[in-house]
Amino acid sequence: MRPFSYERATSAQDAAAKVAATPGARFIAGGTNLLDLMKLEIETPTHLIDVNGLGMDKIEAIDGGGLRIGALVRNTDLAADARIRKDYGVLTRALVAGASGQLRNKATTAGNLLQRTRCPYFYDVNMPCNKRKPGSGCAAIGGFSRPLGVIGTSEACIATHPSDMAVAMRVLDASVETIRPDGTTRAIPIADFHKLPGQTPHVETALEKGEMIISVSLPKPKGGTHIYCKVRDRASYAFALVSVAAVIGKDGKGAVALGGVAPKPWRVEEADALLPKGSKAVADRLFAGATPREDNAFKLTLAQRTIASVIAEAKA
Ligand SMILES: Cc1cc2nc3c(=O)[nH]c(=O)nc-3n(C[C@H](O)[C@H](O)[C@H](O)COP(=O)(O)OP(=O)(O)OC[C@H]3O[C@@H](n4cnc5c(N)ncnc54)[C@H](O)[C@@H]3O)c2cc1C
Ligand code: SF4
Repeated sequence: MRPFSYERATSAQDAAAKVAATPGARFIAGGTNLLDLMKLEIETPTHLIDVNGLGMDKIEAIDGGGLRIGALVRNTDLAADARIRKDYGVLTRALVAGASGQLRNKATTAGNLLQRTRCPYFYDVNMPCNKRKPGSGCAAIGGFSRPLGVIGTSEACIATHPSDMAVAMRVLDASVETIRPDGTTRAIPIADFHKLPGQTPHVETALEKGEMIISVSLPKPKGGTHIYCKVRDRASYAFALVSVAAVIGKDGKGAVALGGVAPKPWRVEEADALLPKGSKAVADRLFAGATPREDNAFKLTLAQRTIASVIAEAKA
């Protein structure tokens, strides 16, 4: 690990302004992803600004019947909150399907959205990787692509986004609230928050330099049955090969998003409308234009079968 300096932020705007003004500065929250990447020298910040003491650790009711989740709310606390469990069960289920109890105790809402890909070549500094080192190439294309993306990818990068929580937030139509270095705030729909790789896979989100997440808001509850089904190589402590987040009403209508298949939580609103027609119709729409590789083409079938299972569970 390279040497770095450290300070505790005194306010959200101060933290944003310092990250924008200090070359190599980064926010640190739970540290469960950033510190791992620093140990491997994949991330080499020169200065860390700790945002843990800013009081952004509350879950509050908002006008219109929704909830605002502070950026520093721990994954454990978010999953256990009685209002989340009752009205946003897909989120609790996604959170507890992720990582381990100890990690969830540290991991924060903002940090989880901003965790970086688990593409094995991203972690191997001896291999080319356009995301880690722009312009160096992509070792995954033509390499081992089993865990990687089948849709939304590009010829520059086929990595997936690893967050379970983000898939549930996508199906719930969450909104990510931020503060910029000049103190202005904005709300970014989660659909627009994560970027597809195109020719710039290192640009992963809509955040500008120094822009800091302060909260994530959920609109009023959708009702219906909330399901998160994660298929992975081991029963726990593994990232999704395919995951399905769904909220489905008694009439069979609802919303569905996929994890493990794309560089961002994958939802196509037109596919939601096909839920009453069954999993094949939904999967065909979700995967229109997919570019699977030999190693990971199984994800298309796996996703369709997982959607079928989720629809059956919602009807039961
Ligand atoms: C062994 C292991 C298994 C895991 N398994 C899973 C899994 O199955 N599913 C899953 O979803 N996740 C999994 N994770 C990932 C884990 O959920 C993330 O590491 C965690 O959510 C990151 O949150 P953090 O608060 O620790 O982020 P940090 O490591 O503190 O930060 C991550 C990034 O977010 C930035 N950041 C933090 N806060 C802010 C803010 N407020 N505004 C702007 N930028 C900010 C940091 O600068 C950094 O770039 C696993 C992790 C490990 C180590
Ligand atoms: S798929 Fe993306 S993250 Fe993986 S090696 Fe290629 S460029 Fe890097």
